[in-house]
Amino acid sequence: MTDHASCSTVLSAPKIAIIGGGLTGLLTATLLERASNQTGSSSNNPQITIFEKSRSVGRLATRYRSDSKTDKNWQWSFGAQFFTAKTADFQQFIAPWLDTRLLQPWCAEVVELTAADENGQSPNIQSKEQWDAVHARYISTPKMTSWGRELAAALKHTTIVFKTRVAPLAQYLQYQNQQQSQNQIQHQTHNQTFNQNSKQTELFDETGASLGWFDWVICTAPNGQAVELMADSGFAQQDKITKPQMQACYTLMLGWNDVQKLPETLNGQLTPQWDVAYLNSAILDRIFIEHQKPAHGELLPSVTIHARNDWSEAHVDEDIELVEEQLLQAAKRALNWNEASAPSQTDCHRWRYAATIVNKDAEELGILIDATKQWIVSGDWCAKGNIESCYRMAQQTVKVIMQTQ
Ligand SMILES: Cc1cc2nc3c(=O)[nH]c(=O)nc-3n(C[C@H](O)[C@H](O)[C@H](O)COP(=O)(O)OP(=O)(O)OC[C@H]3O[C@@H](n4cnc5c(N)ncnc54)[C@H](O)[C@@H]3O)c2cc1C
Repeated sequence: MTDHASCSTVLSAPKIAIIGGGLTGLLTATLLERASNQTGSSSNNPQITIFEKSRSVGRLATRYRSDSKTDKNWQWSFGAQFFTAKTADFQQFIAPWLDTRLLQPWCAEVVELTAADENGQSPNIQSKEQWDAVHARYISTPKMTSWGRELAAALKHTTIVFKTRVAPLAQYLQYQNQQQSQNQIQHQTHNQTFNQNSKQTELFDETGASLGWFDWVICTAPNGQAVELMADSGFAQQDKITKPQMQACYTLMLGWNDVQKLPETLNGQLTPQWDVAYLNSAILDRIFIEHQKPAHGELLPSVTIHARNDWSEAHVDEDIELVEEQLLQAAKRALNWNEASAPSQTDCHRWRYAATIVNKDAEELGILIDATKQWIVSGDWCAKGNIESCYRMAQQTVKVIMQTQ
């Protein structure tokens, strides 16, 4: 099915497809809507569609379980734990959500933790720093997903289509060729002409069903997925997509029934007291105490542990149950639990594309643009691989589109 009506409205209301409903996609839609509002003409409001293959918003992720006895939850932010806002623009952008306290600074006490050795010596915990207003780290409350949901709910000219995987764009050419003869018959019937020179792109889902025609296509998938989406499509900057390297991350989630059951390393009786631990470990990277975060006090004791990216990448194709077992052993040495203080809840998640390796000396890639086709490839990995990068890449995208309209 093709939407030929869009051809006639292209000048007044550009149709924009965003592949990926993570923060880059949501922020791009938000900034696009705001930029077109500033032009003052409602006929210029872009019609934006975000296609997201999963049922939620990207690598901002929250998992929870309920305890049937207490009706309380364990909760783990198993993707991003917090974010920074170093630029004035981004600080200004997040200010309204800081006012409503949906976003809150997390003034965590941070320690360095060296796990117990094989001789049974206790873990060594040394104070490192406290995150403060100067080096603020922000969290979204009550869940890390809450901000993404708010961003999505505030969009006025954007439709979000979940559980829809966009097919590689090369198929656009294939299907376009296949359909051309059918379309020509259809056009003759409706006395219309097919615009060969149109810059519009028809997207398809995995089953070959049309998702519509768009003036702009913005891909925000992680680069491992972007490379497949754009392969053989003639995208002018294809060779650059593979440049940034992304690594995996395993996340271990632990829960206890009661603070009384926590091991000494977590029950606040040891000094220094802490919220976040950086680990000196070949396997684990950081431990985050969820129930000590602002506005998280109602939770049952919940701890999230990120494995090191290099270790995760080296084990990315292993059986997840075997990986979980190794992570649990390492966590046990770090947190020093015994049978009585062992967690009652455990879970493990594999992020195949978690973190961009940042080469501080290399020039930042920035968004990749094919001006002829009006395709843009964007995402956190085009910059520093964090949430602030999503915002900056959204800004770059909006600038390009607004300059072209
Ligand atoms: C374990 C972990 C810890 C992190 N910690 C931090 C941190 O402390 N601070 C920080 O700032 N950042 C952190 N990050 C990074 C942060 O989560 C990312 O920078 C940010 O979420 C990236 O958003 P994005 O929209 O660019 O990508 P994503 O969130 O990956 O969104 C891309 C979306 O595209 C969708 N998609 C892909 N292919 C298709 C297709 N064919 N059709 C439709 N949809 C598709 C995917 O499902 C996905 O939802 C962490 C990430 C991980 C995984």
